Amino acid sequence: MTIVRFAPSPTGHLHVGNARMALVNWLHAKSKGGTFILRLDDTDATRSTTEFADSIEADLRWLGLQWDAIERQSERMDNYRKAFDALLEMGRVYPCYETPEELEYKRKRQLSRGKPPIYDRGALDLGDDERAAFDSEGRPPHWRFKLDHTSIDWTDLVRGDVHFDGVNLSDPVLVRGDGTYLYMLPSAVDDIDMGITDVIRGEDHVANTAVQMQIFAALGAAAPTFAHTPLLTGMDGKGLSKRLGSLTVSSMREDGIEAMAMNSYLAHVGTSDDVDVRPDLGELASDFDISHTGRGTPKFDAERLHALNAQTLHAMDFNTVSARIADLGAEFADDAFWQAVRPNLERLSDVMVWHDVCFGSVDPVIEIADFIAAATEVLPPEPWDEGTWKTWTGDVKEATGAKGKELFKPLRLAITGLDHGPELKALLPIIGRERILKRLNG
Ligand code: GLU
Repeated sequence: MTIVRFAPSPTGHLHVGNARMALVNWLHAKSKGGTFILRLDDTDATRSTTEFADSIEADLRWLGLQWDAIERQSERMDNYRKAFDALLEMGRVYPCYETPEELEYKRKRQLSRGKPPIYDRGALDLGDDERAAFDSEGRPPHWRFKLDHTSIDWTDLVRGDVHFDGVNLSDPVLVRGDGTYLYMLPSAVDDIDMGITDVIRGEDHVANTAVQMQIFAALGAAAPTFAHTPLLTGMDGKGLSKRLGSLTVSSMREDGIEAMAMNSYLAHVGTSDDVDVRPDLGELASDFDISHTGRGTPKFDAERLHALNAQTLHAMDFNTVSARIADLGAEFADDAFWQAVRPNLERLSDVMVWHDVCFGSVDPVIEIADFIAAATEVLPPEPWDEGTWKTWTGDVKEATGAKGKELFKPLRLAITGLDHGPELKALLPIIGRERILKRLNG
């Protein structure tokens, strides 16, 4: 049974890169009939807020990425304490007293000597009396995990065989001086307790995985399978979290992006699969394969997303959108109207332009009055259907001698007030004779 988790920190809004990670986890789980857990990494009480947590949940719901369970790290502190105590018992954590300035000084000195800035384990040399002296000074220790200096290996679903050597890594700090946990231990404990089988996350976590492999082993658990995907960047190659609000999921939703356009785009960007539109998440999941993820940095292409958005709308049926377009104010919309106008939509809200053209008032553009007068003369009687346009323009052609663009463009301008739009053969019966006559008369 596959169990995955998406583990955002509720310290900001989701951007498209986070949404991609959530989606990829969801698709991976669902393609295997598995479980998707939403885990809120809210141990940082100063930066985590319920507003951000609510906004993350709302964004995931909008995308359709329903979770099977939700977990909050802030409610699991006892589990982290137990794991920490167990590591302490086995001698795998040790107290350190260096100040940030001292650590920075050590780091600079190592770098200036051409050495990698790996923690020198100075704290392991402290005697009991020295530790006691720090304690009595009121200088609380932070706690590091003591890595085994052995080889660390795993087969990553995206990166293939990955190798680290413990000797090249700094013993990570698990607990700060104020007793709060950093990311490293709670995440590993949760992955164990929640039975996570597959961890899919950004490649910025590869070195954390090397450390967590040893934490899993120390706590007597088998490590999950890992997949580290390259992070989505902007077209300029810069990270997404560094930029302004325009790439958040909520701002894209407000900008008229459809959830399935976003999902279709994010499921395949950076993979060897074609990026194309799918009608629902089930279809996306059916042929999703995390191992198709490439090693190159995928770039977020807003133009491509907008093109997929248009395609998504063009393929939607009336039942799917009727409530939404009614909310936008399209009170007279029906199936025929939707079929006629959907090929001209880039955003759903564009529907109102065509709703006005069909049922509201337009400013007719009449450039050659004689031509329009002649066309009005031969306007067929109702009932109208999709053949009416052909009949009418045939008669207008005969009466005026106009053909091609000279024939069609002035009629479109007079009827719709615009020089582009849905096919007139579909619009004509929807607009109806009475309105058209009025517009032809200016
Ligand atoms: N909260 C972590 C992050 O957002 C989770 C990383 C993980 O998936 O383990 O980077």
